[in-house]
Amino acid sequence: MGSNLHCSATNCAFNQTGGCYASQIKVEGFDAVITPETYCDTFKDKDNFNMTNYHGDTSLTSTQNISCSANKCTYNSYGACNASHVDINFENSSCETFVAR
Ligand code: SF4
Ligand code: SF4
Repeated sequence: MGSNLHCSATNCAFNQTGGCYASQIKVEGFDAVITPETYCDTFKDKDNFNMTNYHGDTSLTSTQNISCSANKCTYNSYGACNASHVDINFENSSCETFVAR
């Protein structure tokens, strides 16, 4: 089953072949006006995070499961993301889909 959330941060513990299995994510970027000022706050460095001891939910994340503080993004609707597709970058796990309004 696919998702409309694609993540290139393969160094994140929740990343499985481009899919995010954190169930829900928090994107930060309060007052961000460009993509590099946004980041996925749910990112966990897979070298320092042990998934076998993780007791949280690990279902496939989609854009409906994003809570986002980037209030200057055109897709931000009261803290939810209404983009039809979101790409998270490898670099800083920033949001490639961010577009300033
Ligand atoms: S960086 Fe964020 S979107 Fe990407 S796999 Fe990790 S938690 Fe999911
Ligand atoms: S597209 Fe915009 S609203 Fe959606 S997660 Fe990225 S920065 Fe937040």
